[in-house]
Amino acid sequence: MSSPRYQRAVLKISGEMLAGERSLGIDPVRMEQYCAEIAQAASLGVELLIVVGGGNIFRGIAGAARGMDRTRADQMGMLATAMNAIALQEALVSGGCPAVVLSAIAIERIIPAFTREQAVRSLRAGKVVVCAGGTGHPYFSTDTAAALRAAEVHADVLLKATKVDGVYDRDPAKHPNAVRFQRLTHADALARRLQVMDATAFGLCLDNDIPLIVFDLDRPGNIHRALSGESVGTLVVGDPRS
Ligand code: UDP
Repeated sequence: MSSPRYQRAVLKISGEMLAGERSLGIDPVRMEQYCAEIAQAASLGVELLIVVGGGNIFRGIAGAARGMDRTRADQMGMLATAMNAIALQEALVSGGCPAVVLSAIAIERIIPAFTREQAVRSLRAGKVVVCAGGTGHPYFSTDTAAALRAAEVHADVLLKATKVDGVYDRDPAKHPNAVRFQRLTHADALARRLQVMDATAFGLCLDNDIPLIVFDLDRPGNIHRALSGESVGTLVVGDPRS
């Protein structure tokens, strides 16, 4: 990537991606593969802030469905994201990529608190910032945390890494003829009721004009392609001319 298109990016990695083929926990091979791609992007000067999910360990909604209080269940979910964030930071650092982890929930003896200032200082110092704890509040998702952090640090783009290679007109798992969009506006996605992110996360992108790339993280090189401006997955933009 001679000159990356985006200088500062937020990358959302779900817990499901970290689990790989397993249903729970972290697949060390996948972790290593993702960290190598993240490290490559960072070494080329892209400032990267990563928001990590927790669905490979615990999801609040599943706890609530089994009768737990939703707030307590979501607190467990946020703690799950903290475990993933530590694992990611450790893997990045041991691969030679400077990285810090900051938390939206108060667990200071384990992870320092997230502040926008600290995150920006670390990004400017060339460190990857891994964000734990989502937004720090129950009833939200880590997609929303990613959109929120993208707005706060004025990221040039939000990369939503998934198992699917973009946004389709219908669910591609159920409809073999589903068509993938290469490019959309936020308004198109809203009008067509496309499931790009959850509504709160998407609303933040729409209101703050945050470009979004939805792409398949398991295709090697895709982080690099997305950051260099190559067409990968689906690009969702505010202004159709941008
Ligand atoms: N969570 C939360 N507030 C947030 C972000 C996450 O309460 O701001 C909890 C919620 O219980 C969620 C869990 O953390 O189910 C894991 O996050 P998420 O489901 O977004 O993870 P992913 O699906 O991306 O792995």
